[in-house]
Amino acid sequence: MQALNIAPCSLPPECEALRAEVRAFLAEAMADYPGAKRVRNWTGADPAFSRKLGERGWIGMTWPRRYGGRERSALERYVVMEELLSAGAPVAAHWIAERQSALLLMRLSPEVLAPRIVPAIARGECFFCIGMSEPDSGSDLASIRTRAVRTDAGWVINGRKVWTSGAHRSHYMICLVRTGTSGEQRHAGMSQLLVDMKTPGLTVRPIVNQLGEHDFNEVTFDDVLVPHDCLIGAEGDGWNQVGAELAFERSGPERYLSSSQLLLEMLDAADPANPRDAVALGRVVASYATLRQMSMGVSGMLARGENPAQAASLVKDQGALVEQAMPDIAHDLFGGRAAPDSPLAHAMAYTALAVPSFSLRGGTREILRGIIAKGLGLR
Ligand SMILES: Cc1cc2nc3c(=O)[nH]c(=O)nc-3n(C[C@H](O)[C@H](O)[C@H](O)COP(=O)(O)OP(=O)(O)OC[C@H]3O[C@@H](n4cnc5c(N)ncnc54)[C@H](O)[C@@H]3O)c2cc1C
Repeated sequence: MQALNIAPCSLPPECEALRAEVRAFLAEAMADYPGAKRVRNWTGADPAFSRKLGERGWIGMTWPRRYGGRERSALERYVVMEELLSAGAPVAAHWIAERQSALLLMRLSPEVLAPRIVPAIARGECFFCIGMSEPDSGSDLASIRTRAVRTDAGWVINGRKVWTSGAHRSHYMICLVRTGTSGEQRHAGMSQLLVDMKTPGLTVRPIVNQLGEHDFNEVTFDDVLVPHDCLIGAEGDGWNQVGAELAFERSGPERYLSSSQLLLEMLDAADPANPRDAVALGRVVASYATLRQMSMGVSGMLARGENPAQAASLVKDQGALVEQAMPDIAHDLFGGRAAPDSPLAHAMAYTALAVPSFSLRGGTREILRGIIAKGLGLR
C-alpha cells in the first residue's frame, strides 16, 4: 500500500496580517448580515459583494497580473477563503468561476478565452456554472449524452444538464459535451465548451431543493450555436480536463466549512459549566482543527505545483462526514434547550436539511473513496 501524505503547513506572518485586514472588512461589510443568511455560506449570492471583493483584489489572488490577478500565494488565498466562509459571506455568485473555471481558461485557452474573460472574473463581475451532470449521468460522467457537432458556423449543442448550481445567475457555463462519433471508447470523444448563457436555444429552469430554495437548475440546449474558438483545450480531451477541474473543485476549505454557522451558534449557546457541552463541542472543534490542517496542506500542495487530487478527495470526504454529523450533535445537546426562532434553532433546522447534499455535490462519497483507494494502490 502506498502512503497518502499531506505535509503539515503553517501560515507565514503575512497571512495573519491579511487575515486581520479581511476580518476588519467583513466586520464592516457584513455588520447587518443576519445569522439566518450566514448559514447559507454555500448558496448566498450577492453580485455587489463579489464586486467589493474584486476591488480589494481578493478574487483570483494567485493569478498572473495579465489576467487581473495579484500574484499572491495559495496560502494567502486560503486565509481569505477561510475568513469568508467562517463569516458566512455571500460568495456564491463568483465562487465557481474563481475556484475552477478561470483556472481552466488560463491553462487551456491562455491566449484566446482567458484574456477575454478572466479579468472580469477577478473584478467580481463574471459568474460561471458547471455543466457536467445530466439526468442519467452523475458519477458516471463518461455516459453523458449532450452532444456538440462542429459546423461551419460553430459548434451546435443539443442535450440537457441537471443540478447546475447558479445557472440562473451565471454569465457562462463550461459545458462537458460529446463531440466524437458513436462507437468510440466511452472516455474518448468528450470536449469542453464555453457557453454564453444568453445564447438562443439555451433554457434555464429552476430545480427547487429540499430546503425549498432555488440554487440549482436544469439547463436545456436546443441547437445552441457556440463559436469555434469557445472550445476549451483540445477536442476529445474533455475527460482528462474534467479530472483536473474536479481536483480544483474539491480542494478548498469550503469542503469542511459549509456548516460553520451552526458550530458558532452552538458555541454561543453552550453552558461552560456543563461537561457534556464541553466534551461534545471539544470533539467537534478538534475535528475541525484536524480538517483545517489537512485543508491547508492541500493549499500547500497547490502552492508547490503538486497534484492535490487524492488529498483533496480525502479532505472533502472527511469534511462531509464531520459536517453531516453536526445536526445530530446539535439536536442531542440543544434539542430541548434551543428557544424556538432563536438563531441556533434556525441554524439547526437549516443545516439538518442541507447536509445530505454534502456527500453528493462535487463527487459522491463512494466515488471519492474510489479515488483515495486508487491513490493508495488498493485498486
Ligand atoms: C448541492 C448540489 C449541487 C450540485 N451542483 C452541480 C453543478 O453545479 N454542476 C453539475 O454538473 N453537477 C452538480 N451536482 C450534481 C452532482 O455532481 C451529482 O449529484 C453527483 O455527481 C452524483 O451524481 P448523481 O446524482 O447522478 O448520482 P449517481 O451517480 O446516480 O449516484 C447514486 C449513488 O450511487 C453511488 N455510485 C454511483 N456510481 C458508483 C460506483 N461506480 N461505485 C460505487 N457507488 C457508486 C453514488 O455514490 C451514489 O451514492 C450537484 C449536486 C448537488 C447535490
